[in-house]
Amino acid sequence: AAKAAGRNCIRFFLPEMDTELQARIELERAIRDAVLNDRFELHYQPLFEISQRRLAGFEALIRMPAADGTLIPPLTFIPVAEDLRLIDKIGAWVLREACRTAATWPAHLTVAVNLSPVQFVAGNIGDIVAAALKDAGLAAHRLELEITESLLLGNTETIMAQLRTLKTMGVAIVMDDFGAGYSSLSYLWRFPFDKIKIDRAFMQSLDGPHCQVGTVVKAIIALGRELRMRVTVEGVETANQAAFLDAANGDQVQGFFFGRPIPASELGASILAEFEKAMPRASPATKLHL
Ligand code: C2E
Ligand code: MG
Ligand code: MG
Ligand code: MG
Repeated sequence: AAKAAGRNCIRFFLPEMDTELQARIELERAIRDAVLNDRFELHYQPLFEISQRRLAGFEALIRMPAADGTLIPPLTFIPVAEDLRLIDKIGAWVLREACRTAATWPAHLTVAVNLSPVQFVAGNIGDIVAAALKDAGLAAHRLELEITESLLLGNTETIMAQLRTLKTMGVAIVMDDFGAGYSSLSYLWRFPFDKIKIDRAFMQSLDGPHCQVGTVVKAIIALGRELRMRVTVEGVETANQAAFLDAANGDQVQGFFFGRPIPASELGASILAEFEKAMPRASPATKLHL
């Protein structure tokens, strides 16, 4: 029937015929609508300094409210926003909003913002970051920018130049999801990252039967130390994982065990004070995988 329709292929796009396409169109519409009406939200997940057992700051994580009141996660809509060339707008909003929020926190707390590789294409990310800092009145050293391997796969001089510009401004550059891709290791000597974040896949494997993963995590922490890069371990979900990290000598931890991402509206002074008081600790009785 499709062939018989010939070039007049409007029938391919009837809703009944392609629910996947329909869903994509709906998602695109929702993204455009959220951009026009300023309807994204940031949630903030705490990061803790492991040796001092204190709050270090938060990572800003974007969510898009859906018509039914649920929140659409970034991995669902960010790639589509990239295709639509709306990520620059969204990313600039995230930077402005995160910097503005962080400016209300105690001055020792940092805020981490994730950047899409697409935000490096126009070549003006330095200006956008500078404007967000200036408007918020936030000191540059309180902002961390998280990038993933996919950015560095480009490995072009223009990307490196933009990263250097950002670093010169005093902003911290973080390699996110370290160890998840093919060539994370090869980027460590090409750019002086301030911090590396070990991908949560490592923590997920830690409780499994083959515990060499713990040895690898400790080796990455040692490598980070040698390179003068701080090391955060993300995706800490269990007391057992937390106890392992207590002994492993990393710098920071992040994960559901210590705190889930929470909406900005719930991140009031009282919550900040609570996080300040004490980092949740692993029970001393938990078995260590060392
Ligand atoms: P990411 O930067 O690696 O952020 C960590 C993700 O892991 C977040 O998912 C967080 O909710 C989740 N997570 C944190 N702790 C745990 C844990 O203990 N267990 C498990 N299973 N998950 C944990 P989320 O918020 O869905 O974000 C997913 C990814 O979307 C982020 O990964 C980041 O790459 C991207 N993203 C988030 N916000 C933005 C943004 O504003 N801009 C861009 N370009 N990307 C963003
Ligand atoms: Mg991140
Ligand atoms: Mg990550
Ligand atoms: Mg990730």
